[in-house]
Amino acid sequence: MKLAARAARVVPSPTLAITALAKSMAAQGVDVIDFASGEPDFDTPQPVKEAAQAAIDAGFTKYTPSSGIDDLRGAIVDKLRAEQGLSYERTQVLVSCGAKHSLYNLFEALIEAGDEVIIPTPFWVSYQDQVLLNDGTPVWLKTREEDGYAIDRQQLETLVTPRTKAIVVNTPCNPTGATYDRRTLDVIAEVACRHDLLIISDEIYEKIIYDGVRHLSIASLSPEVAARTVVINGVSKSFAMTGWRIGYAAGPKDLLTAMANIQSQSTSNPCSISQKAAVAALKMGVRFVTEMVTEFERRRRVMVERLNKMPGVHCRMPTGAFYAFPNLAGVLGARADDTALRTPSEVAQYLLKTAQIAVVPGEPFGSQDHIRLSYATGLDAITRGMDRMETALRNLSR
Ligand SMILES: *Cc1c(COP(=O)(O)O)cnc(C)c1O
Repeated sequence: MKLAARAARVVPSPTLAITALAKSMAAQGVDVIDFASGEPDFDTPQPVKEAAQAAIDAGFTKYTPSSGIDDLRGAIVDKLRAEQGLSYERTQVLVSCGAKHSLYNLFEALIEAGDEVIIPTPFWVSYQDQVLLNDGTPVWLKTREEDGYAIDRQQLETLVTPRTKAIVVNTPCNPTGATYDRRTLDVIAEVACRHDLLIISDEIYEKIIYDGVRHLSIASLSPEVAARTVVINGVSKSFAMTGWRIGYAAGPKDLLTAMANIQSQSTSNPCSISQKAAVAALKMGVRFVTEMVTEFERRRRVMVERLNKMPGVHCRMPTGAFYAFPNLAGVLGARADDTALRTPSEVAQYLLKTAQIAVVPGEPFGSQDHIRLSYATGLDAITRGMDRMETALRNLSR
């Protein structure tokens, strides 16, 4: 059978692939420590579970309006007004099966063959594949660790062409853990306004921030910026609800209407029970996420301090999300037995094989120097995993 060309353009999500491999090793009895998976290890909060249970008991188990139930769209409108100072009508809000699905609907509604989307690197892997799946062209805006992954106006400016449709903004960022300050957001907003670009603002980690950083949505800079921004968010990360699959998009009405139409012909509504659960999550207040972030904060320090003591490793202190993104430039080229570890992928394979720790190599995120480790896992696992990693790296010869 001859498949569509676009099917050959995408690869399976590498994070999910490594996680699956680690899980299958664990199922065979290997004591694998998993730093690969990208989800909080916290249990979904009780009020959320209760709302879901109540929905089941009440028979709320049928189709809902395709774009999401009124309660939930209303709760999202309220959230965006209260926390970001943004005002949307309910029809400008689309609830989807996770923020990943929100982004997919968006690229499908936006992009035609050859259209370009600027993506700062390192980037979350699915932006690239979703653009490719919709026949678009990802354009890389390289940012540097030394600059805190900030965005350079001139460099951004040179990437804009008549085919540029949009720019992706992901703060706090997966995988770097960097957060953009006001100045960086101003640069992006100014360039987007001048060249008539859509801003795709993925704010899924907005609540997972440290060191007094405050989350600022680029859409809140001005009404002019809001009018050209799609805010993408969801409950997966803030409320430890990755399996429930609820994400949302809010933005310009014509675009959101197109996305809603696409969704109505593809998935229809996201799970009715999960929608009720998400309403409860959005009404829960900050206590759950505050406690979770306090715990992540402790783990972040332990992991980053340990990484920085390993030979050839340098790790910036992340200010958001739950990932350490150490630079391994000083490890690359070292040898395990007789084979040189030349790439982050080879280091990741070495670590999985010899130290039984699962990490994600940097290549799919657009880095040839880094690996990504999640610290959304217990402190004990972090300590043991760091011990193993340190030994594995000390055993390399150079
Ligand atoms: C986890 C993640 C998402 C998607 O989350 P969903 O579970 O699909 O809501 C989107 N963007 C980034 C950067 C992520 O890390």
